[in-house]
Amino acid sequence: MCGIVGYLGNRDAADVIIKGLKRLEYRGYDSAGVAILNGKLAIRKAKGKVKRLEEILEDKPVEGGIGIGHTRWATHGEPNDVNAHPHQSQNKRIVLVHNGIIENYSSLKKELIKKGYSFQSQTDTEVLAHLIEAIQKDLDCSFEEAVQYALKQVEGTYGLAILNQDEPDKIIVARKGSPLLLGIGEDEYFIASDASPVIEYTNKVVYLDDNEMAIIKRTGYEVKSIANVPQNKKIHELEMSIEQIEKSGYPHFMLKEIFEQPQSLSDCIRGRINPEDQSITLGGLTDVWPKLEKANRIIIAACGTSWHSGLVGEYLIEHLAKVHVEVEYASELRYKEPVLIDEKDVLIAISQSGETADTLAALREAKSKGATVIGICNVVGSTIARETHAGVYTHAGPEIGVASTKAFTAQVVVLTMIALELAKRKGTISDEYYSEIISDLLKLPQKVTTALKEFDKVKEISALFTYAPNFLYLGRSFNFPVALEGALKLKEISYIHAEGYPAAEMKHGPIALIDEHMPVVVLTTLSHTNEKMISNVQEVKARKGRIIAVTMPNNREVEPLADFTLEVPSITDVLSPLVTVIPLQLMSYQIAVNRGCNVDQPRNLAKSVTVE
Ligand code: GLU
Repeated sequence: MCGIVGYLGNRDAADVIIKGLKRLEYRGYDSAGVAILNGKLAIRKAKGKVKRLEEILEDKPVEGGIGIGHTRWATHGEPNDVNAHPHQSQNKRIVLVHNGIIENYSSLKKELIKKGYSFQSQTDTEVLAHLIEAIQKDLDCSFEEAVQYALKQVEGTYGLAILNQDEPDKIIVARKGSPLLLGIGEDEYFIASDASPVIEYTNKVVYLDDNEMAIIKRTGYEVKSIANVPQNKKIHELEMSIEQIEKSGYPHFMLKEIFEQPQSLSDCIRGRINPEDQSITLGGLTDVWPKLEKANRIIIAACGTSWHSGLVGEYLIEHLAKVHVEVEYASELRYKEPVLIDEKDVLIAISQSGETADTLAALREAKSKGATVIGICNVVGSTIARETHAGVYTHAGPEIGVASTKAFTAQVVVLTMIALELAKRKGTISDEYYSEIISDLLKLPQKVTTALKEFDKVKEISALFTYAPNFLYLGRSFNFPVALEGALKLKEISYIHAEGYPAAEMKHGPIALIDEHMPVVVLTTLSHTNEKMISNVQEVKARKGRIIAVTMPNNREVEPLADFTLEVPSITDVLSPLVTVIPLQLMSYQIAVNRGCNVDQPRNLAKSVTVE
C-alpha cells in the first residue's frame, strides 16, 4: 500500500514525482506529499488526491532536482494534512516517506519524548525521522550509519526514502516488507514502489530485497544490507510499455481492464498451450512437477479476489487431478498451527501484485516448514515471484483499477493449466476430456469477447438496481466462487452490501432476507448441478426475489423464472467461471458509475495490500 516516488537528476523533481504519484495513486490515495531538496528542504503535502497536491504546487512551486513523494493509505492516524507524508525530524533537516507499519513505534516514541522530541502527527512514521536525528546526534555518526542503527531498532515493515538537508546530493532508501525499486537512467535515478512511474524514463531497474538499503548520489548508487554488507545487484530490463498503464480512451481503468480480457487471456495462454499437439508447457514449474505429482495435498494461500480464484483452483485440481486441495485465507494460515505443514505439501501463493503482505508471510511460513512453494503473480519481479521455488506469471498486463478483473481471470486460467497438466501426468484424465478442455481454452478469448457484448443489457439492468441496498449472488460447484467474486466486486466499488453463497446454503439462513426488493443474481450454467440450481431459483421466485440469471444458450428452464437474463456463451463446465464472471464485473462497474462512485479508487481500499 501507499506509493513512493523519488528522483535525483537534472529534471524538475517535483514534476517527475507528481507524474509518478499519479501512476501509483491506485496504491493509496487519502493524502499526498513531496519534499524537494535544493540546498534547503521544501515540503508540500495535503489530505486528498494527488490532484490536490498538484494544485498546491501550482500555487507554491518548489524547484530542484532531488526529491521524494508519497501517496498515503493511512494505518496510524486519520488522513489529514498533518499525518500526510513526508515527515520531518525535530530540527527539520531529515525528512522521509514511508510505506508500511512501524510496529514498535509506541515504545520508540516514549523514549524520544523523554529525550525532548515532540511529535506533530499521529503516525507511526514520524518516529523514524526523529530516531534518525537522535541517533546521529547521540552517536555522532554519519547519516547513513544513523539510518542503519535506526532500522535495527525498528520492528515492522518499511519501504523508505529519506533526505537530509546536510547531505544535499543524496537519497537513502531502504526496504523491509514493502516493495521498492530503483530506476537507472543516464545521470539520473528514480525510486518507486513499482515500475509504472519509471517506465516512461528507463527500462533498467534494480529491485531492492528485504533488509537492503541504497545510497543514491549524483555520482552513482550503491546497494548494501542494513548490516552494511555491500550487495551486488542485478539490473533487470522491464518489458512493460507506457500504453499498458494508460486508459486508452476508456473512462476508467476498470472498464479498460474488463474489456482487455480477451487479450490478457490470450497473452496468458500464448506459448503455454501448443495448439498442434495440445501440450501444456509452464516453464516456471519444470523443476517442481515431481513435487506436485507426489504432493499429499496442495494448499492455496491468497487474499480477496485471488482467494476466489484459489477456490476455483480447488474445484479444478480436485476434479481433474484428484489431489486434496485446501484454500486458506493467507492471513489465517500464517497464524495457524504451522507444524501441520511439511515437505510433502505444496503451497500455491496467489497474488496479483506479488507483494500482498499476508500471502508473502504465509508462503514464508510454509517454506520454512519444508513445503514447496509456488507463486502465481501478475507483477514480474515482485517479492512473491522472487521468494517462491517456482511459479507462473499470469501475463495479464498492469492492472491499475483497484477492483481486480483481468488478474482474476488470468489466475483462473493459470490454475486450469496447472490442474490439466497435473491430471495428465497423474493419469487422472481421459484423452477426450483433456482435449475438450484444451480446445475450449483456446477459444476462451473469443468467448469472452462474446460475453462482453452483453454490456448494453447490463446497463439496462444496472439502471433498475442502482439503489438496491443489498444483493445476493448464488452459484454451485465451479460457479460458487464466482458468486463470491461477484458479491465482492459489487461491495468494493459501489458500497452496496452483497453476499455470495453456494446456492443450496441459501435455505440455511439467507433465504430469510428474500422479498420483492432483493435482487438475486443466479449463475445457471449447463452443468451437472443445473437442475439443483433451478430448484434454488424456484425457491427464490416463490419468495418474490428479483432474479437476474447469468445463463447459457438453451438453458430453457431458467428463462421463465428469471426477471432478467444475461447470456454468456456455452463452454465446458470447468471453464464456465471464466465467462460467467464477465457480466458480474460489468454490472458492478455500471452500478458504481450510476451511483457516482470513484470506480478506480474506491474508498478505504488500495491495490497492493502490503500491510497485515
Ligand atoms: N503507517 C504509515 C502511516 O499511517 C504509512 C502508511 C502507508 O503505507 O501509506 O502513515
